[in-house]
Amino acid sequence: MTAEQVETKQFQAETRKVLDIVINSLYTERDIFVRELVSNAADALEKFRHQSLIEKIEFDSHVPLEIVIDGDDKKHTLTIADTGIGMTREELETNLGTIAHSGSQHFFEQLAEAAKKDVNLIGQFGVGFYSVFMAAKSVRVQTRSWDGSEGWEWSSDGGGTYSIGPCPGLHRGTKIIIELKDDAHTYASKFTLERIIQQYSTFVPFPVKVEGKKVNTVQAIWTRSKSEITDEEYTEFYKFVGNAVDEPLYRLHFSADAPLAINALLYVPKENFEVLGMGRMQPGVNLYCQKVLIDQHSENILPEWLRFLKGVVDSEDLPLNISRQSLQDNALVVKLRKVLTKRVIKFFAEEAGRDADTYREFWQTFGIFIKEGVTSDFEHRTELAKLLRFESSASEPGSMISLDEYIGRMKDGQDKIYYINGPSRVAVEYGPYVELFKKRGIEIFYTLEPIDDFVLNHLGEYDGKKLVSADRADLSLPEPAADADQAAAQDTAEPLAAAVLTSLCRWMKEMLGDRIQEVKASDRLVDSPAMIVNVDGYMTSSMERILKASGQGEAFGMGSKKDMEINGSSPLIKKLAALREGDPDFAKDLVEQLYDNAMIQAGLLVDPMVMVRRNYRILERIAGGPADAA
Ligand code: ADP
Ligand code: MG
Repeated sequence: MTAEQVETKQFQAETRKVLDIVINSLYTERDIFVRELVSNAADALEKFRHQSLIEKIEFDSHVPLEIVIDGDDKKHTLTIADTGIGMTREELETNLGTIAHSGSQHFFEQLAEAAKKDVNLIGQFGVGFYSVFMAAKSVRVQTRSWDGSEGWEWSSDGGGTYSIGPCPGLHRGTKIIIELKDDAHTYASKFTLERIIQQYSTFVPFPVKVEGKKVNTVQAIWTRSKSEITDEEYTEFYKFVGNAVDEPLYRLHFSADAPLAINALLYVPKENFEVLGMGRMQPGVNLYCQKVLIDQHSENILPEWLRFLKGVVDSEDLPLNISRQSLQDNALVVKLRKVLTKRVIKFFAEEAGRDADTYREFWQTFGIFIKEGVTSDFEHRTELAKLLRFESSASEPGSMISLDEYIGRMKDGQDKIYYINGPSRVAVEYGPYVELFKKRGIEIFYTLEPIDDFVLNHLGEYDGKKLVSADRADLSLPEPAADADQAAAQDTAEPLAAAVLTSLCRWMKEMLGDRIQEVKASDRLVDSPAMIVNVDGYMTSSMERILKASGQGEAFGMGSKKDMEINGSSPLIKKLAALREGDPDFAKDLVEQLYDNAMIQAGLLVDPMVMVRRNYRILERIAGGPADAA
């Protein structure tokens, strides 16, 4: 190529950051850059194989599908060539000049962290190519697209820029020529390369040749019978397909003949990569047809909420030449997805029964996806509900139970499932909403995650029993047995007379105005003087809090439909009734403070400045009144 035709460009800022991290972090396992490049080569070959099934490709159609690796011990270079799909000029620029991820600050922090801890993680971040600069002084990428357009060469030394220029005379595919750093000469050695390929790339479904010798055995593990596959092979395959470094949490290998011929090998990882600041994960399961990759990271064969699964699904019933675009509305794919989803849910349910400890680990890491499924996947909602776990008043702190377990323990006459949201178990148990449940021995779920109320609200009912939040105004708990009622009546202090209480309620309502709909005498409170309850059946305080925080509160017209319940047996309420006559100003402060306290216990916002001022007035009064009490 002539100098005039070569263009030099700046890497995108995000890419420069990634390069910085890759080059300047201290690495223990540089080997993995070979794996990343081989995995890119394999991807490119799969893409070409699939493309050639969709359309007749004339250009270079005779070139065999393979990966060829050569080291030059004297020149200290390493070359990795594939005969895959190749790249056009535009593709070169986007694929090797920018990064696909959003590149948030959090992303880079996590990437830097991961690079320090375990460089293997780099592939998970979708920036595997750049790992070449761990070992490379400079890199040249020569590539020619399957469409037969001109070849191009991309080159860079990992600094701020890269160059692109024409590169005539290439065959289809991509050749990566690496000039090795002085301390990385080992990567030109045949032995090192063979070792790395055997360690990381045994499952590459194309021949990988090192110095002319094939070093991997091409095999589709998922089509073999379970009894022939060792745990080690399963784990190795997981690492290959999931670009992972650890062992999977779960593994599900199954085949079916009806209604579709399916071979599936699916894994649940140990980690949820969405919490690492990478944004939404792409699906991790690849679709094959007769061992040919049809759709990598397929969005069609599993519902979105199962995007954390890794693995492969192979179905002989699909047409080999189906295009990615037409997968979405292919009837067979729809059927496939149904069968797979049901099978996976059943698998989780079985695992939960078989090994509760591992299921707990699963639930802690991936429970959020199951909850997403309940809110988004109407078809599987009921089956998914079986997988839900929450703490409850009857569970040990930190351990969780299922809806079925709850139902198994329900009281005679109880026909609803109760739950209450709170930031922690302690907070819930200190709050007013569980008082009557405790007294009557009725179990109640503690939904400790903000989204839980949305999930249960979507579910609506389970096994014919309505799911009800305990902060609802119209809550009616099953009546206790007659003698228990009497015992309970005995230990209750003498309440305020009904007429006094009614008038107190009316007076309080006047004072609180529109903030609440009604002040009512409570038949639920045991110890607390007051609480806020929701009149709208579908809305809980926790949901309101989230909607408000997300700025949607107004759209839902919230904040108006609440009642305040007061406890006529509470010493404070009794004193308040007396103070109302004797010291109305102070009584007014008390009402306001009662309201704020009840709102706080409901997890809702109050104005802290106003409250703290009032609180000081009340404290002064308790401490003996201000020196110049008005
Ligand atoms: P990822 O593989 O996760 O997409 P990489 O940084 O490894 O991220 O590669 C970036 C992109 O560069 C790939 O998605 C692919 O489009 C392109 N690419 C890399 N290597 C090759 C290759 N050998 N042949 C064709 N395209 C390639
Ligand atoms: Mg890659």
